[in-house]
Amino acid sequence: MERSRLRTVPKTRSANGGAERLPGPPSSPPGVAVAVIAPEATESIVRRLVERLRSEGLDASVYDVGPGVIMLRGIRAAEVDDVLGGHAALERVFIPDTRYRLARREVMPGGSVVRIGDVPFGGERFAVIAGPCAVEGRGQILDAARLVRAVGAGVLRGGAFKPRTSPYDFQGLGMHGIELLVEARAETGLPFVSEVMSPGMVEPLYPHVDGYQVGARNMQNYDLLKALADVDKPVVLKRGPAATVEEWLLAAEYLLAGGNDRVILCERGIRAFNSTTRFTLDLASMALVKRETHLPVIVDPSHATGEPALIAPMARAALAAGADGVMLEVHPDPASALSDGFQALRPDELDELMRQLRALAPAVGRRMADGVEAPAESGR
Ligand code: PEP
Ligand code: MN
Repeated sequence: MERSRLRTVPKTRSANGGAERLPGPPSSPPGVAVAVIAPEATESIVRRLVERLRSEGLDASVYDVGPGVIMLRGIRAAEVDDVLGGHAALERVFIPDTRYRLARREVMPGGSVVRIGDVPFGGERFAVIAGPCAVEGRGQILDAARLVRAVGAGVLRGGAFKPRTSPYDFQGLGMHGIELLVEARAETGLPFVSEVMSPGMVEPLYPHVDGYQVGARNMQNYDLLKALADVDKPVVLKRGPAATVEEWLLAAEYLLAGGNDRVILCERGIRAFNSTTRFTLDLASMALVKRETHLPVIVDPSHATGEPALIAPMARAALAAGADGVMLEVHPDPASALSDGFQALRPDELDELMRQLRALAPAVGRRMADGVEAPAESGR
C-alpha cells in the first residue's frame, strides 16, 4: 500500500535559525508558492533543491502529486524568480490566490487522468460508472453487473456500506456486499467502486475495491479524507449537498496534500429551494471546477434529479458541458430495490442512454471510454 513518495525530510532550520530571508518588497506579504517538479528530475536533484531552499531559510514541503510538487511557505512573489527561476528541476512555479493549491489547474495544465481499473477519467474519454444504489444480494448484483457490461459501461458501482437518512432503512450488506462485488468483477471483468464511510474501513476495503466512493454526507469527514490520502487507489469524491465549490475543492486538497493524487470529483446535486427535483444539479459549478482544477469531474444525475425521466437529459447535458463521465444508478428490477429504487434506471433505459451518449460524444470532441466488451484499443 505504501507508495514511493517524495516525502519531506523532517523540518529543519538553517544554521542562523532560518531568520535569513532574501530581501523582497516590504509591500508583498510572505505567502505560499507552488513549484511543479520537472518529470525528468530525479529524487536526489529534488532533495538538493529542497536543501538549498532550507539553507536560504525557506520552509519547503514536498508532495508526490503526479509529477511532484513543492510548496514553499514564507516566500514573497518577487523572491520566487530569484530563488527558483530557471532551476532545471522545476517545470513551473506559481503563487496560488486560492485556499486550495494542489488541485489548481496550474499544477497540471493539461488535466490529470485517473484510472479506475483500466478505465480513464479525464483526457478525451467520457467514462460511465453504473450499477445499483446498494448491493442487495448475489443474484441482484450479478444481474446488474452483467447488464452494465452488456451496455458497454466501464465501471460497476454498488454500495455495501450505505449512509441512509433513516436508521430504519436498509443499511447495506457490509463486507458480504464487497465479497459479492468481487465475485461480480471476477465474472464480468468490470472494476468497481464502493462507498467507504469511516476511516477504519479504508484498510479493510483496500485489497478488494478498485476505487473508493466518498458519499456526499462524508465530504467533510476529514479523518476519512486523511485515511484515504494514505492509499494509492482512486477516490470518487462527491460534493456535499450544501458544500460550496471552495469547500469541495479543499476536501479534494486533503487527499492531494496527503499524497493521493487519484481524485475524481463528482457533482451530485446541491440543496436549493426547489423540491420538485431531489436536488439541484449544479452543472455550472461542474464546468467551473473543470476550468479551475486539473482533476477529472463526473456528474451523478441519478441523485441530482431523483427521477428516471430526468437522468438521461442531465447525463447528455453533462457530456455536452465538458464532464469527464457520469455515475448512474440502474437496477435489474427497480420496483424491488431496497434503496433509491424510485430513481433507478431500468436496464433498457440505461441501454438507450448509452446509445445517446455514444452518438453525442464525437459532436462535443469526446470518445466514450470503452467497457470491457468493446474492442480493445491501444493507448488506454
Ligand atoms: C449513492 O451514491 O448511492 C449515494 C449515497 O450518493 P450521495 O452520497 O451522493 O448521496
Ligand atoms: Mn443511491
